[in-house]
Amino acid sequence: MDAMMTSSEKVAYLKGLMDGLKLDENDDTAKVLRSVIDILGDLAQDIDEISELYDDLADQVDEIDQDLSIVEDDLYDDEEDDLDDDFDEDAEYYEVVCPKCGDEICVSEDVLLEGGVECPVCGESLEFDFSTLTKENIEEND
Ligand SMILES: [Zn+2]
Repeated sequence: MDAMMTSSEKVAYLKGLMDGLKLDENDDTAKVLRSVIDILGDLAQDIDEISELYDDLADQVDEIDQDLSIVEDDLYDDEEDDLDDDFDEDAEYYEVVCPKCGDEICVSEDVLLEGGVECPVCGESLEFDFSTLTKENIEEND
């Protein structure tokens, strides 16, 4: 029997062999054999149908997966573009709250390490106190 045959084709082949035996159809053993082959045929048909449905479903999932990848790529591309507009993506930025106007400003690590910057909103000279601004705080503000 060919391994590439479907289950239905294998049962049909078996049925052909059975017919070739020219058994007495009134013989009980022949009746049992024919019943078994009939049941096998039904089962094989069900399996073939399920296999087809499964293949269709797998194809659809593949298509959905591909579509989703495209959507994801678009989405993350957009996010990266937005970041590029405002920031140098290689530099690290930290949020600092101005004590005078309360505005949040983003400063780069370089500016932070210099120890101070002017608030772009109110002009207040901000100084960073490294005794309170620990490494841990910097990471939290990242
Ligand atoms: Zn300010």
